Amino acid sequence: MSTFKSVRGMRDFMPDEAKAMRFIEAKTRKIAELYGYGEIITPVVESYELLAAKAGEEVRLRMYAFKDLGERMVALRPEFTPSVARLVATTLRNEPRPFRLFCVGSLYRYDEPQQGRYREFWQSNFELMGSNKPEADAEIIMLTNSLMEAVGLKKYALKVGHVGVLRGIFNQEKLNEKATNQVMQLMDKKEYDDALQMVKEAGASKKCLETLQKLVGLKGDRVFDIAEKMGETVEGYEQSVAAVENLMAILRLVSESECKVNMRLDAGFARGLEYYTGIILEIYIPELDIAIGGGGRYDKLIELFGGESTPAVGIAHGIERIMLAMQKQNVPLQTEEKKNVMVVPTKDELKGEALKIAQMLRDANVAVEVEVMGRKIAKALEDANRRKVDYAVIVGERELKEDAVMLRDLLKREQNVVKIAKMVEKIKGSPKIVGT
Ligand code: AMP
Repeated sequence: MSTFKSVRGMRDFMPDEAKAMRFIEAKTRKIAELYGYGEIITPVVESYELLAAKAGEEVRLRMYAFKDLGERMVALRPEFTPSVARLVATTLRNEPRPFRLFCVGSLYRYDEPQQGRYREFWQSNFELMGSNKPEADAEIIMLTNSLMEAVGLKKYALKVGHVGVLRGIFNQEKLNEKATNQVMQLMDKKEYDDALQMVKEAGASKKCLETLQKLVGLKGDRVFDIAEKMGETVEGYEQSVAAVENLMAILRLVSESECKVNMRLDAGFARGLEYYTGIILEIYIPELDIAIGGGGRYDKLIELFGGESTPAVGIAHGIERIMLAMQKQNVPLQTEEKKNVMVVPTKDELKGEALKIAQMLRDANVAVEVEVMGRKIAKALEDANRRKVDYAVIVGERELKEDAVMLRDLLKREQNVVKIAKMVEKIKGSPKIVGT
């Protein structure tokens, strides 16, 4: 046996899993279409500089970065947002706003592999650029909810926070950007004590520490009550008060849309990526403690890439994690089951006829495999049975003389001579029985 293995953190998707991945991908495309997001396909390899520019330390240190043969420092993309930002700052520079852009594909991060965490993984990514209005944030929440509904998840919740609230406090306390980002990263990992210690060491006031301590405790699904308490807690921090008002406006719009979104507000919630400026989101199911999606508002990123000031909000959904969530909740794939057929010639001289009949069936949208192992009928049928094929079409000399084939229903174990002209009708006629 060969000793070749897949590289650590990389995985193969066998047909059933690949089908589930593509099913989810198809749903993300459907949502993109329904919400008016145009798909863009960007390169897997980008310049290291672009990808490193605003990624948080977490992502930056885990990039697959290398010099190409032309001595360019490049990396495999760890996220989509820098590529989209690059396009908005260049190719789309003079196009009218807003942009609604969608991408789906593989990303690469040298993360420690574990359940639901790989070094190559797939995301669908939605970016709404050009608007700083709360209705844009509400749209990202609504489309995420639509996607979770569309794949059939039974129970999930959107965890919501607002980095503007925390940033407002740190700005007023004159914490520099580096310290602010470090504190936010600690908060992202829920290491609140270390975060508070760092704030203290950076010379923040007693009021600041008290405010942060109170904020960290504010969370739950009564989102309006919590937002109100957040407002009271940050009194005196002007930017934070404005951030809470923004959060309220978004929550109100989602509520008025009458989309039943199960939200949980968490005032101490931060995300690892450095570029967020407003609302931040993550999606969870009760059965998993890792997020199946995440995103937020980032209003300064495009400027950083040399583009015109373009406020933006976006979200990425982890396709493997949605698949895992579906497995955990026993959600079946809603796929249109097609009848499948195996065509078997009774002897070598009829191979050509078998191929012709197979093609005739495919032209009529029936899925067909042709026996290619040179097996005798009984063996071929045994294999077809094992793989749950619906019908066998046995191509024999006697039947062909009468423009007919032997059609065997593998489930019912019945067979009849059927005219070739009637074959498709017979196969398609009976409903497919699934799960027997
Ligand atoms: P991020 O780009 O870090 O905001 O992540 C957005 C979503 O991508 C997460 O909520 C996960 O669903 C998914 N994701 C991130 N990292 C990984 C990984 N290493 N393996 C699988 N999925 C991931």
